Amino acid sequence: MSVTRQEEGDQAGPASDMGADAKPGPVDEPRLYNIYTGARFDDAEAPALSPNARAGGEPPRFCGQCGRRMVVQVHPRGWSATCSRHGTTDSEAWERAALRQKLHEANS
Ligand SMILES: [Zn+2]
Repeated sequence: MSVTRQEEGDQAGPASDMGADAKPGPVDEPRLYNIYTGARFDDAEAPALSPNARAGGEPPRFCGQCGRRMVVQVHPRGWSATCSRHGTTDSEAWERAALRQKLHEANS
């Protein structure tokens, strides 16, 4: 008979809440709107999956989920962009996503 010790693992913290109830952030995939122009994507011209080519450069100006103009703040170390509906993203998260994408492309 094996004794499981899962209960201790459950204390990993509130991070698990985010998985269940996470909403897409302003620039998460899949996007419905162009984050630089605010134009809505048609099914016919779905966004190519390499939108992070300019990572760390120009901040996005429109929310990719709803097309609202975001409040963009540029800091010495990067930027943050906030959609009133979808929350805030920043250049750090953006760069992490870009890195993940690069790894993904390298593996495929
Ligand atoms: Zn939004």
